[in-house]
Amino acid sequence: MNCALRNIIIGLLAILSVSIAHAQEADLNTYGCGTRTSAELIKDISSFTPALANLKRTAVADTLPLSIHIVGKDDGTGYISLDLLLRMLCKLNDKYTGTGISFYVKWPIQYINNSAYYTHVASVGAQMMRENNVPDAANIYFVNDPDGTCGYYQPSTRAVAIKNSCAGTNSTTLTHELGHFLGLPHTFYGWEDGQTPTNAEKVTRGTGANCNTAGDGFCDTDADYLAERWNCPYKGNKTDVNGDFYHPDPTLYMSYSADNCMTRFSDMQIAWMQNTIGSSYPTLAASTAPAYHELAAPNIIYPTDTIHANLQYIIWNKVQDAEVYYIRVTQKQTGRLLAETTTADTILALNGELMQDNTYTIRMAAMNGVNICRGNMPSRDYAFTNKPTDLTLQSFSGVTQGIRSFPNPATQTLNVYLDFMPVGDYKISLRNISGQLVHQYNYTHNGVNAAINIAVTDMANGLYFLYVAGGGKTISQKVVVTH
Ligand SMILES: [Zn+2]
Repeated sequence: MNCALRNIIIGLLAILSVSIAHAQEADLNTYGCGTRTSAELIKDISSFTPALANLKRTAVADTLPLSIHIVGKDDGTGYISLDLLLRMLCKLNDKYTGTGISFYVKWPIQYINNSAYYTHVASVGAQMMRENNVPDAANIYFVNDPDGTCGYYQPSTRAVAIKNSCAGTNSTTLTHELGHFLGLPHTFYGWEDGQTPTNAEKVTRGTGANCNTAGDGFCDTDADYLAERWNCPYKGNKTDVNGDFYHPDPTLYMSYSADNCMTRFSDMQIAWMQNTIGSSYPTLAASTAPAYHELAAPNIIYPTDTIHANLQYIIWNKVQDAEVYYIRVTQKQTGRLLAETTTADTILALNGELMQDNTYTIRMAAMNGVNICRGNMPSRDYAFTNKPTDLTLQSFSGVTQGIRSFPNPATQTLNVYLDFMPVGDYKISLRNISGQLVHQYNYTHNGVNAAINIAVTDMANGLYFLYVAGGGKTISQKVVVTH
């Protein structure tokens, strides 16, 4: 490449990365946390505080299940990057180190296509949570706009919503909102929304202190009044009612200091979170997390070097102790994302979007609920060719699931192939998101790779479920219809 051109490109990349960094910073500065702790809960903390003061951090090990919901628009676009989400979840337990509390992912990741939930006010967000909460898990919803905030915990539904653009890998939003989920108020409780509390927490400790009954109720979190994002070290000169200078603690996750300042929960906050688990979430604490296992990298058995037009799949060997697999397929020349998903299957259909003589890059990792850090995923490149291969899906043993439907979204016709299913009689049905039957067909699969063409022109835009039932089992896929 000529040097001047390369410099221009590097310059453009620099501008691009700066503007992305600004966008994220702007979001964190513009949107705060929407959680407002009730006065009743603060009273509970106050009455519990003397006991908390004597509570040593115990060696309890509570491992709580998280159910992750990725919310998109009606047409299935706008999802948070799965790669980014998994990186953030990977770092979550580091941030809870020393609390005796850790989290694991309860699969599968849930997808919701609903524009009204994607950008919502609090009451609609609560409806989303009531409709979609997975029982016996801490439910986290990743949306475009949760009521104008970076995130909030909704006590009535006991679930958390997070704004996609506030969910960076270095972001503490999820750590903070799970702190609310586990009963913690802000360190600046009472100062939210421009309020000044009548009984503000004093800076002093010991004689004359009111830290048990004011502010967040914890005496080992310094008095704090900063209800907007602030950077460490603290440089303010505000004084309390006694004339003592505030020195709020930027290291606490429940403050509003910048992400890079936060490193910890206080001992009393930890004791209160553990108490909340015992009193409010006994079923979560009693859930059994999968055992931790080191996981081998999946071994792709097809394609070996070329993806053939008549066999557009990725097929891999099952990895010992893996619960799901992460797969990312990009077009090498453009970096365009073709597929990014987690699946418990050992096969992924590529749905007919590949182009002759293009090269595609596949990255994969095995995961289980407590081991979601994927490390450096090795990438491999594969050419695509229209030349057919003699291989069929039946050439591979031990592969689970084999239906293919495309295009997705479908506009006029949905093509369904049963090419990996055993021959026999099948019932193929489409149901809408409410579970109502929209179309049903009987089909006899004789082993020939014929497309079953389903007209979708009369169907309303939205998300549907395709069910293929036969041979003693039912396989389902999500299908989006847009006109
Ligand atoms: Zn908050």
